[in-house]
Amino acid sequence: MTLQNYPPTKELQEKDNRFLHPWELMSRVGHNERTIIERAEGVYVYDSEGNRLLDAPAGMWCQQIGHGREEMADAIHEQVMRMTYASPWGLGTAPSALLAAKLGELTPGDLNEVYFSTGGSEAVDSALRFVMFYFNNLGLTEKKHIISRHKAYHGCTYLASSCSGKERDKSFFDFETGFVHHISDPNPYRRPAGMSVEEFCDFLVEELENKIKELGPDKVAAFIAEPILGAGGVIVPPEGYHRRTWEVCKSYDVLYISDEVVTAFGRLGHWFASKDVFDIEPDIITTAKGITSGYLPLGATLISDRLMRRISGRKDNRAVFSCGYTYSGHPVVCAAALKNIEIMERENLMAHAREVGPYMQERIRELNDIAIVGDVRGKGLMACVECVISKDSRDPLTMDYEIGSRIDAHCQALGLLVRPIINMCVMSPPLVITKAEIDDMVGILRQGIERAMDDVEREGLWRRTPQNIGGPGVA
Ligand code: PLP
Repeated sequence: MTLQNYPPTKELQEKDNRFLHPWELMSRVGHNERTIIERAEGVYVYDSEGNRLLDAPAGMWCQQIGHGREEMADAIHEQVMRMTYASPWGLGTAPSALLAAKLGELTPGDLNEVYFSTGGSEAVDSALRFVMFYFNNLGLTEKKHIISRHKAYHGCTYLASSCSGKERDKSFFDFETGFVHHISDPNPYRRPAGMSVEEFCDFLVEELENKIKELGPDKVAAFIAEPILGAGGVIVPPEGYHRRTWEVCKSYDVLYISDEVVTAFGRLGHWFASKDVFDIEPDIITTAKGITSGYLPLGATLISDRLMRRISGRKDNRAVFSCGYTYSGHPVVCAAALKNIEIMERENLMAHAREVGPYMQERIRELNDIAIVGDVRGKGLMACVECVISKDSRDPLTMDYEIGSRIDAHCQALGLLVRPIINMCVMSPPLVITKAEIDDMVGILRQGIERAMDDVEREGLWRRTPQNIGGPGVA
């Protein structure tokens, strides 16, 4: 079969029902009619019926340089023809060596040791396993506890999903609860009533410190945190939160793992957000997604030289880092990542993201005037619109339906893909998006939300009251 003669949409949708998709609802298995995406170019994807959709989630937070770049295809082709694969156990390859060195240049501080995997979950899992290995090497075998946060998303391997904190993901699976602990999510919009944002920040920092003291600093190995909680609904913690929590960790010798699977590679206008945006130098950074702009799967765990020096290089140390994947440092994938970074550098996409990111934030906040919109938040090229029953109560607009999916369906009919998450819609467009395309995105989103609002009002699931059509939500 060539690319030109795919079967018709209906047949593809039936066959697609044999694919157990991520986060598949069991009641829908075998009955889905998913939109089939057939081709893509720039910031647009095209479905199998020929409809053009602006790709506002950038696939899954991953399409930085835009779809269909010929240079990427050429780089991948060239590496396939030159050398497809060599075992990373005993051998090195030029693309993996060059990429490891390049990442060291782009990371903050001394995060120069790179461990390659095939995606974000593995990057996180490997970071957590490395932390345990590290303390075992130092003879601190009791230092095993991990602190994470509610609403976090760190992936779906056993340990990474145990660190995730989205309540809906916690049913029907089993998780590690013995040494993984969760503290509050840092969402200013959902802070306790009567608390200022500054007081909320104090509370969050104290909560982390108290949790470390309660478990015992000699037993706490690491704190893991996304700089902005992405899948949890683009939660931007209060000003100063990152620096203060990082200082707490440092003072108790608790390692700080910054999960930059989403926030790196330009999403916030910098290669990595930890230092440049939030002024912290983590011990470990995990990343994936934008590292190849989604052209091929790659994850990376970036580890501080300081940590590595403490456990390596001594002749009498017989420890083996027995962790690795057949595809760690896959040369074709690394060649794609190198080309992706080269394109970003040449086209100055960091500067472009720093220009269009604030514009997107400004434009999207205009949606605050819609009655069901409680909060519009975000930073750089990450944004979220959260729907509520009333702007006063801030109760999520959920009940027996998912407003996010309704908005997504209306937006698709109007030419826009968004990412629905229960009562929220998340946007993280390709870095190459223009201001005119952002205008289109916000315009369609407004129409999509208003149409969904009309639906739920017509169906008697929600109604306008003086309270819910009041002023914009505060955050
Ligand atoms: N960490 C964060 C912050 C993520 O957002 C994700 C995925 O969205 C992951 C880890 C897991 O990455 P992957 O889906 O590539 O395994």
